[in-house]
Amino acid sequence: RGLAIGIDIGGTKVAAGVVDEQGVVLAEQRRRTHSSDARAVEATIVDLVRELGSVHPISSVGIGAAGWMDLSGGTVLFSPHLAWRNEPLRENLERLLERPVMLTNDADAAAWAEWKFGSARGESRLVCVTLGTGIGGAMVMDGRVERGRFGVAGEFGHQVIMPGGHRCECGNRGCWEQYASGNALGREARELARANSPVAQEILRAVDGEVDAITGAVVTELARAGDAASIELIEDVGSWLGLGLANLAAALDPGMFVVGGGLCEAGDLLLEPTRRAFSRNLTGRGFRPAASIKLAQLGPAAGLIGAADLSRSPLTNGARQS
Ligand code: BGC
Ligand code: ZN
Repeated sequence: RGLAIGIDIGGTKVAAGVVDEQGVVLAEQRRRTHSSDARAVEATIVDLVRELGSVHPISSVGIGAAGWMDLSGGTVLFSPHLAWRNEPLRENLERLLERPVMLTNDADAAAWAEWKFGSARGESRLVCVTLGTGIGGAMVMDGRVERGRFGVAGEFGHQVIMPGGHRCECGNRGCWEQYASGNALGREARELARANSPVAQEILRAVDGEVDAITGAVVTELARAGDAASIELIEDVGSWLGLGLANLAAALDPGMFVVGGGLCEAGDLLLEPTRRAFSRNLTGRGFRPAASIKLAQLGPAAGLIGAADLSRSPLTNGARQS
């Protein structure tokens, strides 16, 4: 018990933090990573744990990674954005760190943190989506992360919502995450900039004309500073997000959706168009209760906070005891 290290592994970064039992982050570190090198990502994790662990007395380590975990939480079966394929990640890390680690999906970890410490406290049927490189998805039902029969429930980002649409790193076309993620926002903004549209002037100026440097984070910052084109681009993402959430409501009937991940830095600029599209697309609207849609209260740190907390009680994550 006491302090735990939580680690959130996304497509382009590893974030690690020391988290107390109330979900408060006492220290945090971030490293950028190259997703194609599985060993390098592992080495970064080990580095961060050693560094944080040398300053703080740590009782457990939990990892939320952008990948599809098997039900035992030992193996990353697949990851669209990282190099893991049937990777015995838990074993690798336990060998390197010489201590047990808890391994789960990054969105599962974020959902858990929001349910326990954040926006969704007390909610009996929570659906969480995290918007970053992709769309992470997770459900907390009656106080437990619902992981499905094989451990890979909640991969909402790979629902095909546009047959024949943009190619996805999972191999299919037209997945939801190609339209409503941080990466999708960056891609749309680059396309706008390449079209030499006069409305993209501010965006181009922010990156000194270097189109490839335009990312979702750049657009989000510009939108917050009031740039009209960036605000519109985020509205488009919100429309796709709200549509997808309406589909999820039809299937899962949650009481609340929580939206997390890097893109939640856009705040109401994202949430308002999302809510509009959700209300516009919800089946049976007007004749059924509608779930609320909230931002992750813990922001982008939700993933590492949840991973830390789940490392204290892995069974609430649906993980089987090994
Ligand atoms: C992956 C998920 C992950 C999400 C967010 C998706 O592409 O399939 O497993 O949670 O990205 O990182
Ligand atoms: Zn996909």
